[in-house]
This record gives sequence, C-alpha cells and structure tokens, in this order.
Amino acid sequence: MQTSFTLAQLADPDVAEADKILRACVHCGFCTATCPTYVLDGNELDSPRGRIYLIKDMLENDRPAGADVALHIDRCLSCLACMTTCPSGVHYMHLVDHARVHIERTFRRPPSERLLRTILAKLMPYPNRFRLALYAALLGKPFAPLAEVCGLKRLAAMLRLAPWRGPRRTLAPQIFAAIGARKGRVALLAGCVNDLLAPQLNAATISVLTRHGIEVVLPAGAGCCGSLVHHMGRDNEALAQARADIDAWSAMEGLDAIVITASGCGTTVKDYGFMLRTDPAYSQRAAKVASLAKDIAEYLATLPLQPARSASGMVVAYHSACSLQHGQRITRQPKELLGKLGFMVKDVPDGHLCCGSAGTYNILQPSIARRLRERKVGTIERLRPDVIAAGNIGCITQIAAGTELPAVHTVELIDWATGGPCPPRLRGYRPTAAMRPSSAAG
Ligand code: SF4
Ligand code: SF4
Repeated sequence: MQTSFTLAQLADPDVAEADKILRACVHCGFCTATCPTYVLDGNELDSPRGRIYLIKDMLENDRPAGADVALHIDRCLSCLACMTTCPSGVHYMHLVDHARVHIERTFRRPPSERLLRTILAKLMPYPNRFRLALYAALLGKPFAPLAEVCGLKRLAAMLRLAPWRGPRRTLAPQIFAAIGARKGRVALLAGCVNDLLAPQLNAATISVLTRHGIEVVLPAGAGCCGSLVHHMGRDNEALAQARADIDAWSAMEGLDAIVITASGCGTTVKDYGFMLRTDPAYSQRAAKVASLAKDIAEYLATLPLQPARSASGMVVAYHSACSLQHGQRITRQPKELLGKLGFMVKDVPDGHLCCGSAGTYNILQPSIARRLRERKVGTIERLRPDVIAAGNIGCITQIAAGTELPAVHTVELIDWATGGPCPPRLRGYRPTAAMRPSSAAG
C-alpha cells in the first residue's frame, strides 16, 4: 500500500512504525474471512482491511479522529485473527494500538462513554478499588434484566459478568518454596482482575509449579500489566503500569521466567520491549522482561509433568483464547499437555473466532460480544464436552455467562491431574470414568 506521510510526520517514531506497517499491506482482503466483526455483519469498514484504510486516512491527514473512525476501531476486538491470516505479515496490533491512542487524544466521546471508560480504567487495574466495585455489582446483579429492559445494556453486561460471590483476598507479595529440590525460579504475574475473580487460577499455578520443584515469587510492586488501559488508548497509564512491573521483576535475581496465566496479559507483557523501545531508561529492561514472559502452558510444556490421576473419559472442549493463539502463537502446548495427562481434548470448530470477551470489550460493545458468545457457546455445546478449558480469565468469564457447562482454566486441569485439588467448578461433577486414581500414581 502506498503512503504519503511527510518527513516531519515520519520524525515521530510511532508514525514511522505505522507507515512501515501500512506499506506492508497489499489489500488482498484475506484477513476479512477470519475477522469476527466482518463475519458477523459483512461490513468492509468492520474488517481489518477497512480499518487499515480508516487509520491510514486519519494518520496521513493528521486529523482528529471522527465519530466514524472511532466507531469502527472501537468495534475491533484486538483479537489479532487478522495477523494470523495475513500473508504479508502486517502487524495490525501495533497499528491499531497506535490508532487507539490517536483516537483517545483527539476524539471527544459522548459524556456517558467517557465516564464509563474512566470508571473502567480507574477501577479494574487496582484490586482494592475493583474489590469494592465487585461488592456493589453483587448487590446490583439481580437487577441485570431490569437494566437490559431499560436500555442500559452496558450496565446489564457488567452485572451479568460479575460473579455471584464476593471477591476473595488477593495474594500478598511472597515466595512459595519449591517442594523438594529446587529446579527453577519464576515470578508469577498474579494479575489484577484475575486474582479477584478467580483466585483458584493462581492457586493451581503455584500448586503445580512448586510440586514440580519450581520456586514461585510474587514480588512487591508488581500489579496490573497495563493491558486493560492499553486497549483503551490510554498509553500513559499503560506505560506507567508496565514500568512498575518491570521495576518489580528486574529487582528479582535468577528468574527463569515470568509466568502469566491470563493470555491477554501475556500478549502485552511480551510486547513491553516494543512499547518502551523509545524510553532509554527502560528499553533494555523492558526487552529482557518481554523475553522472560511465558504463558503458563508454554512454561509447563518444558517440565516433566507427572500424572497422578487418570483423566481418561473426561472430554475437554479446548477454547483457544485469541491472545494465546493469535497474540502469542501458542496453539499446541495446552492441548498436548492435557492430552498427555489423559484428557480427551476436542478442538472447537471455528476456533479462530473470538468469544467476544477481549478485555473490556464485552462491557463496551455488549451487543457484538453477546452475538459472538452465543456463536461460540453453540459450537462448544455441540461437542458435548464434560468441561470447557481456556487459558484466559476473560474467555472463561465470558463463555461461562452463556452456558451451564463448567468452564475452567487449563492450568486447573493440569494441576488436578498431577496431584492438586479438584477445580472448584468441577466439585460434585461425576463423569463415569474420569479422574479415578491412576494405578501408576503412588
Ligand atoms: S491480509 Fe494482510 S495484506 Fe491482505 S488486506 Fe489483510 S492486512 Fe492487508
Ligand atoms: S483484531 Fe480481530 S476484530 Fe480487529 S480487525 Fe483484526 S480480526 Fe478483526
């Protein structure tokens, strides 16, 4: 694609990067076939190619974003299916991230939209504030249908996604010693939303790692990875959160990896080197942190896991989170780990399509998110699985809101099959042959 940025514009490293990305696009349109928003409605402006044209026009003419551009970029899930499909290697993620920053700085959203975005940005990354919000949501949850009827779709979406129980205590900074001889040392990104909504994920991660000889460190000062605000175009807040995490992890000696259980966060942490490339005080440490970041399945695949139970007979529908399969290109390891431990893993048809979670997307774009969830749940339920597994808390929450099937994190099943406790959502579950003690297990 030809571009016509001026030399003055190209002096800005972000514009220069956007120019490089735009030039790589040959407008073939292959990406449209795998874009969830295009698949739903067939609108070219809600396809990757259409969005690329909108972004090009906005940036080249150096003009404030208009309502039309904001509308179609806001509808993008940042699922990155287009990047997996693109034969020309167009780095859509960096392009849309830059476009979101430009929109955030130049477009005046309606007051209610601004208020909602500010509330999300100021609550969700901060566990103490988010805990209070979850208590309020618990009180309001019964009124979700009423909110829907009154046209308050975003409020209704928030209430539906909130859990039916109060939030648990978050993990304090500490070290979890390896059981037996220490074979490795990792830092765990406990996460913000993750730890409050589903503390069993970190518990399962710590359990399986320490049982296999890995020391797990939760350093003081590490918090939200910045992903939530990054996807809203609030780059200063995202970079501040990234720098705090880099400071915390860089202070730790001898880390083999930074283990992350939320694949959306993993995609962002792996991009820290790019996000902070122009910051001389952080660029090197950011690149180091990015190189250490590992999804939990990616890291567990390097360990000799010992099955303690036979999982034969338990059918797992594996939902491949977009941030894992498209953002980090991790597709094999979670399924291979589950398969080796005896689970019968089934791929979800049209697995490249997003479930509609996408960070705060299911709150900000509830109608599209609901349609994508219904589509995803339909394909999953047709597999008649015993359980749904995914590697991202956002997907688990989104899918669980639309089905009676239990939805768990992959690491919960791995921990269970290697000697850890039964995942809370599977307690009381009685499959015919599943999870009986293995004769091989001592
Ligand atoms: S597939 Fe790649 S090159 Fe083709 S239109 Fe989409 S982004 Fe451009
Ligand atoms: S990131 Fe996903 S929703 Fe956005 S343009 Fe690409 S495929 Fe479509």
